[in-house]
Amino acid sequence: MDISYILNEFAEERAHYFNAVSPPIMQTSNFVFNTVDEMRKAFADEYSVFLYSRGKNPTTEILRRKLAALDGAEDCLVFGSGAAAIFASVFANVKSGDHIVSVNKPYTWAQRMFDVILPKFGVSTTYIDGRDIVNFERAILPNTSVIYLESPNSWDFALQDLKAVAELAKSEGIVTIIDNSYCTPLYQKPIEMGIDLSLQTATKYISGHSDTLGGVLSGSKAMMERIFNSEFMTVGSGIAPFNAWLLIRGLRTLPARLDRITASTAQVLAFLKQHPRVESVLFPLDESFPQYELAKKQLKGGCGLLTFTMKADNIRQIEKFCEDLQHIFMAVSWGGHESLIIPKCSGIQPEDFDIANPEHRMLRLYVGLEDPGYLVNDLSQAFDKM
Ligand SMILES: *Cc1c(COP(=O)(O)O)cnc(C)c1O
Repeated sequence: MDISYILNEFAEERAHYFNAVSPPIMQTSNFVFNTVDEMRKAFADEYSVFLYSRGKNPTTEILRRKLAALDGAEDCLVFGSGAAAIFASVFANVKSGDHIVSVNKPYTWAQRMFDVILPKFGVSTTYIDGRDIVNFERAILPNTSVIYLESPNSWDFALQDLKAVAELAKSEGIVTIIDNSYCTPLYQKPIEMGIDLSLQTATKYISGHSDTLGGVLSGSKAMMERIFNSEFMTVGSGIAPFNAWLLIRGLRTLPARLDRITASTAQVLAFLKQHPRVESVLFPLDESFPQYELAKKQLKGGCGLLTFTMKADNIRQIEKFCEDLQHIFMAVSWGGHESLIIPKCSGIQPEDFDIANPEHRMLRLYVGLEDPGYLVNDLSQAFDKM
């Protein structure tokens, strides 16, 4: 299916709503039946019928079908947040006594689930360096039921060879799950590479405007139906119709935004690489990146997230740099119109900060939709004040 068709037409039945270009927000909790038989059928198959908006809702349905098509998946479920998609994907595929192999440093709340929640149910997790397939082979146990991936990682951009991991997991009967938030399905399609379940936060690039949260989980119809009838419905973590509508709106401009961000990021990266205050940069599609060859093979683009290590004599210089930025906001998240920065040291207590540790001097920059010259000037003036 053509991507322009998916984003502009697919799954929209305009004749049902006065041929409006923008779909209505079906702000309803429930749906009416005319016969007992219709109601009976709906109870028996809520996955297919509009019964109650915790399950299916017409606005959410438009978004859901578009997102599944983008992922090249049979189906997807749309959640109220990316974290909810992570939770459902893993919980649906483990039972007491199981073991998970996860890449190092997955998204914060995925790691919290592995470290704090799952051990309560007797599920253990082994973290590995996913850059080498051998580490997966070594970590798999007879009771391993899930391999959890995040490629690229959203801080250090570590990649996994998705085809190789998928092949290994299939031979062992293990379910593979990937957090594909960094790339979006526009720049990486894990399901086509053999991964079972691909999830992403929709809060970031899909929304694109920093005004809603959302999450997507894509996979086979059988798996989606099973998750719908258990984790999705029991936790009640589906997205609200209004937020789904915002995400449909975000999708319209997704390719244009990613193009713009990709071009701007190249300019900001070039500026950072030559700046005397910058020790090194990390960006998966930069030639200096340790896994550049794999990144070129797996990703169609790199978007706007990059990390740089600053040359500094003390923590205060890094703090001052961030505070001196006039236009780049200091905030979590990314994928919106606005450029953002997070210094690693904001997550480190000052007494634990070690200037000799390059990781402590890292800053993650998200390049948004502003003019790249405007961003370079902002970075430049803050460097000058150091
Ligand atoms: C933000 C993020 C998530 C979580 O998404 P929410 O919508 O905030 O719940 C998951 N993975 C990655 C890599 C993220 O950046």
